[in-house]
Amino acid sequence: MGTILDGKRVAAGLRERLKGRVAALAERNARPVLRIIRVGERRDDLAYEKGIQSACSLLGAVCEVSALPSDASSDALLEVLRDANADGSIHGILALRPLPERFDFEAVRAAIDPAKDIDCMSPIHLACLFEGRTDGFAPCTPEAVIEMLKAYDIPLRGAHVAVAGRSMVVGRPLAMLLLREDATVTLCHSRTRDLPAVTRRADIVVAAVGRARFMGPDFFGPDAAVIDVGISDDGSGKLCGDVDFERCAPRVRAISPAVGGVGAVTSTILLEHLVRACEEQLCKRMIGRRAAWDGIASRNVENQTCTTD
Ligand code: NAP
Repeated sequence: MGTILDGKRVAAGLRERLKGRVAALAERNARPVLRIIRVGERRDDLAYEKGIQSACSLLGAVCEVSALPSDASSDALLEVLRDANADGSIHGILALRPLPERFDFEAVRAAIDPAKDIDCMSPIHLACLFEGRTDGFAPCTPEAVIEMLKAYDIPLRGAHVAVAGRSMVVGRPLAMLLLREDATVTLCHSRTRDLPAVTRRADIVVAAVGRARFMGPDFFGPDAAVIDVGISDDGSGKLCGDVDFERCAPRVRAISPAVGGVGAVTSTILLEHLVRACEEQLCKRMIGRRAAWDGIASRNVENQTCTTD
């Protein structure tokens, strides 16, 4: 049986590290504040919101919700977003997605303040990611995959990683994060010829296709580490991944389950982004205050590092 990559354990380790950072912020009288923006009352949005609220309160962060009615206009959403941008007490903004189809998603993602955009909606963060920079917020799920692999000491440098799925939410940003870790990446999709032959050659396989139990044992070599990002209904009301876990787990070196795997880490990554946003905004304010004192023009302040307290 391969090692089971336990997302809950990885998330717990990450939360412990975050507690120290939140305590350090508290010493400076700062507390991370998240503003969730929700349109309507979709069941999965409410469940996600509830999970994030309780994770925030366990960590000592504040979670506020702006709930718009399901028939709210695009302008109403933009107004709420701009208010949250302008509110200095808010450090992170999360607009629950997918937004209703009538909304102009491009206008929404362009309006969010990148400094508070902890869920990587803004094109600026994607641009950072694709340039190999580390100063933006990467999408949470791909970052959770990297966190999971690192937590289990699965080497990335020089490893061949096959990623199945090329969406802008998972596959493509993940390929960029893997490149940043010096992995060699093969990005696969629905037109990839003989997918099992490609994934069988990989040291690490990430499945992000969205098809229930699509990958069987013939997709993996015996030394492969397998990360299953997919979450689907198997037709009988049970959640399952892209990988046929029962059949594959005994045949690979390591594997993450669909439930209690990457998804368990994803929301903790969002909290890490919130804490980072709070640290960065606090730091900028302090540098700004010192710069004003020193008579430094504020436009030259942006690139300074935070060493003051
Ligand atoms: P998506 O936008 O539908 O993209 C699916 C990708 O899979 C596409 O690139 C598609 O290729 C590829 N694909 C489809 N059939 C394929 C096949 N037969 N062989 C190879 N590639 C194939 O889905 P997504 O948003 O990336 O999500 C993927 C899965 O991850 C879903 O199950 C979703 O629920 C789950 N997910 C989980 C989390 C989490 O935190 N656990 C977060 C986000 C998503 P083409 O580009 O050629 O169409």
